[in-house]
Order: sequence, then C-alpha cells, then structure tokens
Amino acid sequence: MDGGLRCEIVKDLMPLYVDGMVSDVSRGSVEEHLAHCAECKEVYQNMVYDIEMEKRPSEVQDVKRFLKKTKNMYLSYGLGILSLVAMLVCMIVDLAINRGITWSLIVGTAVMSVDALVYVLSACKKDKGIIAMAVMSIGTACLLFVVQITRYYLMGAGTFWIFRYGVPILLLWLGVLWVPVLLRRAFKWGIWDQVAVFMLLVIAGNYVTRLITGDYVWEDVCHMRAFAGNALGEMIGAAVFWITGRVKKWRR
Ligand SMILES: [Zn+2]
Repeated sequence: MDGGLRCEIVKDLMPLYVDGMVSDVSRGSVEEHLAHCAECKEVYQNMVYDIEMEKRPSEVQDVKRFLKKTKNMYLSYGLGILSLVAMLVCMIVDLAINRGITWSLIVGTAVMSVDALVYVLSACKKDKGIIAMAVMSIGTACLLFVVQITRYYLMGAGTFWIFRYGVPILLLWLGVLWVPVLLRRAFKWGIWDQVAVFMLLVIAGNYVTRLITGDYVWEDVCHMRAFAGNALGEMIGAAVFWITGRVKKWRR
C-alpha cells in the first residue's frame, strides 16, 4: 500500500522526527511506517547513530574538564598539606637543635611562595603569567626580609644589608623583569621583542648591581672592560631574538 512517495515523505520528516520536533500525528505516522519499512528504519537508525557519535566528543571533553578540575584541586590540597608538614618538621627540628625557631621561617616562606605560585597557575584563567609573576615578586621580597630579620635579629649573625643591598638590587631586577612584560602589553609586542628588551635590560641590571655591591667603581675606567665582556653575550642574544621576531612576522 505504501508507495515510494510515502518513503520520501518519511525520509524528509526524519531529521525533525529524530529531534522530536514533529506533531503527534506525524510521529504516529512515522512510527507506524518504520515498523513496516526496513529501508526507512535503517535510515532512522543511521541518523540516531550519527547524532550519538556527534555527541560523544563533548562528553569526552566534559570528562576531561572534570578530571582536570579534580586534579588541580588535589594538587592544591596536596601541596598545602605537604607544606604544612614540611614547616612543622622544620620547626620541631629547629626547636630541638637551636632551641628556637630560625631557619624554619625561611623554609616556611619559601614553601609558601612556591605554593602560592602553583595555586595561581592552576586557579587563574586570565593573565596567568602576569599574576604568577606578581606572586613571585612579592614572595621574593618577603623571603629577602625574612632571611635578613632571621639572620640578623634572631640568630645574631651577619650584617644589616637589606636596605643597603637587598632592596635596591631586588627593585632593580624586578624592573628588569617587569618592564619588558608591561611594554609588551602596552604596545602589543611579540614575545621575541619582549625577550630582546629583557636581554638589553639584563646588561643594565648587571652593571648597576655591580655598582651597588662595589665590584665596579664608577670612577675606575678599568671595570668597563670586564663589563663589555659580560655585556657582549647579552647583546648578541638580544639581536638574535629581535631578528627572530622580525623573521616570524615577515613569514606570516
Ligand atoms: Zn519507507
């Protein structure tokens, strides 16, 4: 009784039927036809199978996302617990040997900065690198102060160097680290230009550091020779990175 036309109509309706977008009357007719027509039933089964296959990748992605989330969570918790144990062990050993808490403070601060860094990297979605760098900068500053305070006040050893050497050198190198990053953001530079500028700033950083520590003396011209030798490597590096950036841009 069912002619070719009927099959044509069913096949035309099939996508809507599979999506559940047909009226009750149409659905009834299609189901009735599918019960008798092997050809249309095959078309129907293929369509359902295709849709299942299309759905599958998103399910895989969901699973992957879930695994990543839990992995990050366990990583954070695990690191937190490990750090706590490490710090407690240090404090106990410190109390037993030195009868006071000294280097456990240093270890504690170091562990905390590493944890903070890992946490930032796993938790932040946007500006991961910048936030991680900020955490590292603050962590380094804290560590420096902890080392100074611990050694000078708690252990009664060494000199008070933090403001004479520590802070100026730290600020100098934070500048060397941050200026290229901020320049890159401001002017939308490529990574190669950022590294080239970083290399050039390293030259200045080295020079000023030597001046602060007293290795180089401003009036003494002899130090320029040693400085030029040191700077040569960085100059070549900067040039190589700059050229690489140009070549990459040109090839695009
Ligand atoms: Zn049919």
